[in-house]
Amino acid sequence: MSVRAEFDDWAADGRDKGMEERHWHTAKHALSRMPIEEGDTILDLGCGSGYAGRALRETADAGLVYGLDGSPAMARNARSYTDDPAVAYVVGDFDALPFADDSVDHVWSMEAFYYASNPDHTIEEVARILRPGGTFYCAVNYYEENVHSHEWQERIDVQMTRWSTDEYRAAFREGGLHVAAQDLIPDREIEIPPADAFPTDEWDSREAMAERYRTYGTLLTVGVAP
Ligand code: SAH
Repeated sequence: MSVRAEFDDWAADGRDKGMEERHWHTAKHALSRMPIEEGDTILDLGCGSGYAGRALRETADAGLVYGLDGSPAMARNARSYTDDPAVAYVVGDFDALPFADDSVDHVWSMEAFYYASNPDHTIEEVARILRPGGTFYCAVNYYEENVHSHEWQERIDVQMTRWSTDEYRAAFREGGLHVAAQDLIPDREIEIPPADAFPTDEWDSREAMAERYRTYGTLLTVGVAP
């Protein structure tokens, strides 16, 4: 199934908002670290409901914010949640970002980068459009060390890239970005039921669920354009 078909379905049954709620637990911590200055132009890659761009307008004085998504239905939903004229949602693909060289101050992406059909090329694209000193905040919950995420590939037809923390660093460098920071952001908000509630529909044991959220959480890799 294409990215478009898959995520158009998700948007149609409201999964854009479900993801927003879950991802916000860790996304807000990563977003608050972005070195945004007043008036900066921001791009959100794979924006889903578009919450990240709206938050950066509200909290960080971002200037223009673009959310790019391969699913027209996602972009349409995102548009419907705001009337801020400085926020634009565009349909596009990670393969060819519709932005000029050196035209974006900072790029954000949450739980989307690993769907790129050619992730190495997407990093080159990000490096191309970023102004010197601009950053790429790339947050993922699906990565090699997070063993509890591996089964996600079975639930979706779009091919996913499962890199390790080291592979993210190496690929950023290969694609033309310096690596300024990398760390795991735990999800301390999701409620983990007491031991006697396990197994649940999703989790065999309390330990596994705790490891997934509290130990691994979200992998954030921060690239900087030279
Ligand atoms: N960032 C949002 C959405 C994550 S879901 C959040 O945190 O909730 C991943 C999103 O990336 C989907 O909306 C999907 O349509 C988009 N996407 C996946 N592959 C893409 C690609 N190759 N080009 C553009 N968008 C893509």
